[in-house]
Amino acid sequence: MPVNILNLSGLDVVDFRETDTEYHVRATPKVISRLCPHCGRSNDTVAHAKRTLVIRDIPSHGKAVVIHLDVPRLKCRQCIQTFTASVPEVDTGREMTERLAKWIGRQSIEYTYAEIAKQVKVDEKTVRNIFDKYVAVLAKEYQRETPIWLGIDEIKLKRFRAIFTNLHGRSLIDMLPDRYVSTVTAFLASMPDKDRITHVAIDMWSGYRRAAQEALPNAKIVVDKFHVLMKANMAFEAVRRKIARESSNGAGLGLKRAHKLFDKRAKDLNDEQYLTVSGWLNTFPLLAAAYDLKERLYTIYEVKTPEEAWGEYLHWESTIPSELAKPFRVVKTAFRNWKPYILNYFDDQRVTNAFTESFNAKVRAVYRNGRGYTFERLRAKVLYTDMFQKRARMQEKVRVRKQKFEDVAMVRYMCLATMDDEYETRIQTRVVNLGADLSTLEQAFDSGKF
Ligand SMILES: [Zn+2]
Repeated sequence: MPVNILNLSGLDVVDFRETDTEYHVRATPKVISRLCPHCGRSNDTVAHAKRTLVIRDIPSHGKAVVIHLDVPRLKCRQCIQTFTASVPEVDTGREMTERLAKWIGRQSIEYTYAEIAKQVKVDEKTVRNIFDKYVAVLAKEYQRETPIWLGIDEIKLKRFRAIFTNLHGRSLIDMLPDRYVSTVTAFLASMPDKDRITHVAIDMWSGYRRAAQEALPNAKIVVDKFHVLMKANMAFEAVRRKIARESSNGAGLGLKRAHKLFDKRAKDLNDEQYLTVSGWLNTFPLLAAAYDLKERLYTIYEVKTPEEAWGEYLHWESTIPSELAKPFRVVKTAFRNWKPYILNYFDDQRVTNAFTESFNAKVRAVYRNGRGYTFERLRAKVLYTDMFQKRARMQEKVRVRKQKFEDVAMVRYMCLATMDDEYETRIQTRVVNLGADLSTLEQAFDSGKF
């Protein structure tokens, strides 16, 4: 008789056999539950027959593990129905040990359903079901701090997905399967303490604006500076590509591929790059005019007040030469449609987004890379992997009833001032989870270990 190779205290191993790919273990339960699942009241049963259940367990030494478990069929004397006795540590419904279900849950964040299904020898649907339940449990336990400044952005993983960031924390709070107004609104409305959000930075997608207005009526909506400037880059790019196309056999040779160089600010070019760029600008006056417009739009963001910014913008707009009116219409449209939200940036606090294009590109690359990420799995890994979590100490004023002793784990109170006999205001320090740290995530993407 083999020793209990299963290391499951509730089962006695009676036989053991090994093939190239599987361990087969015959076992009997030490204890069974006789409670009738039909009437739910009676323990009064008689043994009716025997049945051998085929139960999967965690793979061992690279082989799948199958337990042939002999359990009695019981008949309830009260309701005269028969049932299979339930066994501790065994999920009879799923035909696997409870520890296997847990193991699959953990693995399903790291590996594809197909990989796990193959290793354990269960079907993919079973793995998916366990994943869904496992993630639902994680989601319930997961508590993120609602930010003061919230960023909403999107990433295209097959379709657009809304992304939420904590702008001060530079961390990712959540990502949704789509970016529909209803989905985004529901998410915003569900955030705990959502009234603490004072600013929401968005791109110029009206769905985000409507969702924020609906769910966060007191928060100030700010169009992210980066997205405004991107419009100027787009306009310039349209001009550059047109010129490159029309003169690709002559002086425009090479202009086609100069995207990166022109994307930079003029002040960020090194001497060599500057020479190349100015060479093209000297050859093509229209390109020079478009470049000048793009560069000058950036300077609008150097002023101090909304009024100054609007004045600067109007001046900028008046200098668009008629030949460039068409490509630069995207900038005009943006300013005309989004004026109050663009100008909100110039109020007291400068809110800009934490979510960058390079981060965006890295997530897309990971998604495409053939590790078989579904959106749900990618999201679960980003949000629930412990090493990505950004934790911070938060201090806040709380009114509490006076107590003599308090020493809750990780929470320390300091008495500040006594307000009245019963209550006092204290500064409370809490350790909070800000979500997934964007730079830690970016390092994981870069290292190829994600
Ligand atoms: Zn019964």
